[in-house]
Amino acid sequence: MTTRAHLVVLAGPSGVGKSSVIKEALSVLPNTWVSVSATTRAPRPGEVDGVNYFYVTDEQFDQMIANNELLEWANYTNNRYGTPRKPVEEKLAAGIPVLLEIEVQGAGQIRESMSEALLVFLEPPTWADLEARLAGRGTESQTQVQARLDAALKELESKGLFDYVIVNDDVNRAAAQLVQYLS
Ligand code: 5GP
Repeated sequence: MTTRAHLVVLAGPSGVGKSSVIKEALSVLPNTWVSVSATTRAPRPGEVDGVNYFYVTDEQFDQMIANNELLEWANYTNNRYGTPRKPVEEKLAAGIPVLLEIEVQGAGQIRESMSEALLVFLEPPTWADLEARLAGRGTESQTQVQARLDAALKELESKGLFDYVIVNDDVNRAAAQLVQYLS
């Protein structure tokens, strides 16, 4: 019997805790490969090019689109984010499970182009919880936090698009659920 490698998409509003849940899930499933996206946004302090993102200019991003190098991409709060196609295809061909951590518009594009993908939405337990987390992490200006909350409202409306919804009321429990979908 051949096993088919999984492609799992984890989406959800900024600040919901996607990265923490992924980190926890990877401690159980170290074989899973997490895609590194390209973005036009500036690095935050401590972020490393090629690790957190590939930081590119608008012109470079345009070129990646023109060359069909992106599996999906989206405009999110005035910056563009996209998944480089080649590494994802290579990992899947090698039988390695792939996880994409992206926003909702991109998840919709993956739904269209890769029908085998499993789409998972990570939801905050409450709206107040999301507000507190986003403001509390201190990585964005107040204007940026507001833009992300506006985006979050729309993203929450799209959760019906997803195969599964995980409520992030507890990181370990949420990660355990994600592990199930990756296994
Ligand atoms: P941040 O600026 O906080 O790193 O990311 C902002 C949003 O963009 C998050 O919801 C994150 O999941 C999403 N994102 C990161 N990489 C990609 C990508 O390659 N494609 C899409 N569509 N969204 C992404």
